[in-house]
Amino acid sequence: MAEPTQSATVLSVKDLTPHVRQLVLLPKTQKILFLPGQWISLQLPVGIKPPLNRAYSLAEPPSQTGQLTLVFDRVPDGTGSNYLYGLKPGDELLLSGPYGNFSLPPSLDRALLFVSRYTGIVPIRCILKQLAASGPLPPATLIAVGPAENELLYHDELLAFAAQQPSFRYIPMVVKGADEEVVEAVLTVLRPLIASKQKTAPLLSGVKGFVRPLRAYLMEAGYERKEVKTETYD
Ligand SMILES: Cc1cc2nc3c(=O)[nH]c(=O)nc-3n(C[C@H](O)[C@H](O)[C@H](O)COP(=O)(O)OP(=O)(O)OC[C@H]3O[C@@H](n4cnc5c(N)ncnc54)[C@H](O)[C@@H]3O)c2cc1C
Repeated sequence: MAEPTQSATVLSVKDLTPHVRQLVLLPKTQKILFLPGQWISLQLPVGIKPPLNRAYSLAEPPSQTGQLTLVFDRVPDGTGSNYLYGLKPGDELLLSGPYGNFSLPPSLDRALLFVSRYTGIVPIRCILKQLAASGPLPPATLIAVGPAENELLYHDELLAFAAQQPSFRYIPMVVKGADEEVVEAVLTVLRPLIASKQKTAPLLSGVKGFVRPLRAYLMEAGYERKEVKTETYD
């Protein structure tokens, strides 16, 4: 059955980095109950044949107010993300959801291994925030790649988090280049982690050109496909 579509009001707009923006929305009809890691679908009044459907992960865990936080980069010539960049407080959007199963495994019996590229960190940050709010964090490593120092999303927050939570390791990386170069750079960090540790619970997020080769590497290293959770953006 189709998820009901409802209207939402833009409450605030904030730039998190030079090329990444945050929108806070308030659904007008009913609260959206979601699991950290899930996403909503926006029906945007643009494109050759509107509506243009675009998915966005939720960046903040569920709140009492029902507000939803989206965080996205401006894709050059991207119809959807450029439309979102034009929105201001008071504007309205159509949305539905939640969707997706990029969420924590049911049992946290292994160390968590998060790997993200750029805005791929959005659902992971939501999961981490929820975990941190519910007590000491289980052992977890985050490898987060961004295209520039000032495009490392949530960098200060994650540094502070790693300083407070001894079981959390944050590995930020700046790599600008084609998918293959970014993947190769991540593999230099990932290989020793995978070789030296017990099996982890990996969650990978970003564009396919990033996520798929890393999943393939993990499967070559002995992981089953179902053990590697992925969220792909394109
Ligand atoms: C489940 C899911 C969750 C998503 N969550 C987010 C999110 O939290 N934040 C976010 O910024 N985007 C997210 N996306 C991507 C988003 O839905 C759009 O695809 C993105 O904003 C580009 O749309 P566009 O119309 O502007 O560009 P399009 O004209 O559709 O161009 C897309 C092309 O731009 C490139 N590209 C560069 N950056 C991105 C990017 N971030 N996502 C996708 N393609 C990119 C890719 O090569 C892709 O082929 C998600 C996608 C999915 C499927």
